[in-house]
Amino acid sequence: MTYKTGLDFAVLQDREDPLSHYRSKFHIPKHSDGTDTIYFCGNSLGLQPKSTQSYIDQELKDWAELGVEGHVHGTNPWLSYHELLTDNMAQIVGAKPIEVVVMNTLTTNLHLMMVSFYKPTKTRYKILIEADAFPSDKYAVESQLRHHGYDDKEGLLLWHSRVGEELARYEDLENIIKNHGHEIALVMIGGVNYYTGQFFDLNRITTLGHDHGCIVGFDCAHGAGNVKLNLHQSGADFAIWCTYKYLNSGPGSLSGVFVHERHAYDNKLNRFTGWWSHNKETRFKMRDDFDLLPGAEGWQLSNPPILSMAAIKASLDMFGEAGMDNLITKSRKLTGYFEFLLNELKNDNIKIITPSQPGERGCQLSIQVKNANKNLHQKLTEAGIISDWREPDVIRCAPVPLYNSFKDVYTMVERLKIILNAQ
Ligand SMILES: *Cc1c(COP(=O)(O)O)cnc(C)c1O
Repeated sequence: MTYKTGLDFAVLQDREDPLSHYRSKFHIPKHSDGTDTIYFCGNSLGLQPKSTQSYIDQELKDWAELGVEGHVHGTNPWLSYHELLTDNMAQIVGAKPIEVVVMNTLTTNLHLMMVSFYKPTKTRYKILIEADAFPSDKYAVESQLRHHGYDDKEGLLLWHSRVGEELARYEDLENIIKNHGHEIALVMIGGVNYYTGQFFDLNRITTLGHDHGCIVGFDCAHGAGNVKLNLHQSGADFAIWCTYKYLNSGPGSLSGVFVHERHAYDNKLNRFTGWWSHNKETRFKMRDDFDLLPGAEGWQLSNPPILSMAAIKASLDMFGEAGMDNLITKSRKLTGYFEFLLNELKNDNIKIITPSQPGERGCQLSIQVKNANKNLHQKLTEAGIISDWREPDVIRCAPVPLYNSFKDVYTMVERLKIILNAQ
């Protein structure tokens, strides 16, 4: 696609964008001057669909009118409410319905997955993560190492990017696995790195790990709803993600879990269980011996928070309607346009650290600004641009295909130019 500078190009792209009407289905936070902000923080907290309110109201109404009977006689009976999310969620992450469930929150699910899939032995107990993993993931794996009696420094292997480089290289991962594969119990990588926006080749990493006898899992918090994950086809053992970033389901909302079909009927796999992992048919007899549900559902513990699930349903119904393929087509155009305009600034002080290949990134661009400090981020915010600042010198911006426009991208770069020139 050829891009052009100038506002008229952005206006034309918006006019021809088959998804442009979705923007009006979201609440866009306002700038202090009353105009819409340029919201580029969907990678951190996605915006609220206007439909969310009515989805939650429906459940409040059923609760008010039916009380406990809502479990069975509600408009969307609560006992099976999570099942209403499964098909859309499976589509979004490229999985089979039996491989997917929505439950708990992200870091909790990472621990539950490690209960089952981190199976250290005397000689094979190490965990490999990327050096720049999201802090919660690092803390979680370190605590698992300690929980099993290992030293969390000695037991943790880090996939570093090279000195002077931002992106991690596969050759380096291959070297670590070649040299240490026999000691590694678990490879746990962020599917899309939260800092650089680098989208890893899940298939390649899984194959590499499996060839050396390691279990492979991914944290797809920055991937779900953003890139084509193809989790089933990747062959990964498990994956987890949250629904409040690209999946627009509200602060602290529940997490999605993928467990590969090959583990669906393995009831020897160690796991923590509760009444929601028990056979649905006999769950309420309350007397039976434990009878495990097959698939990802067999990792559920509790009856879930329906109000949060209603918000997830509102969002996933919209994703189902818009279609992941259409969203990705727009996303690539939108982010490509963003990259083009930033490069057109020809400003040596800014550098995009996110990969330039569309297949190796989602919508986020991480922009490194030489000699910048948080002041720059403050100025952007004052100019009505909601972005995200990561120490020491990176602004993360995510133009989200569901609600951001080409004009948003144009305006952002115009304002950035003014701010950079004034510095
Ligand atoms: C956002 C994010 C988290 C946050 O974890 P919560 O348990 O939802 O608070 C963890 N890991 C990654 C990679 C993330 O991007």
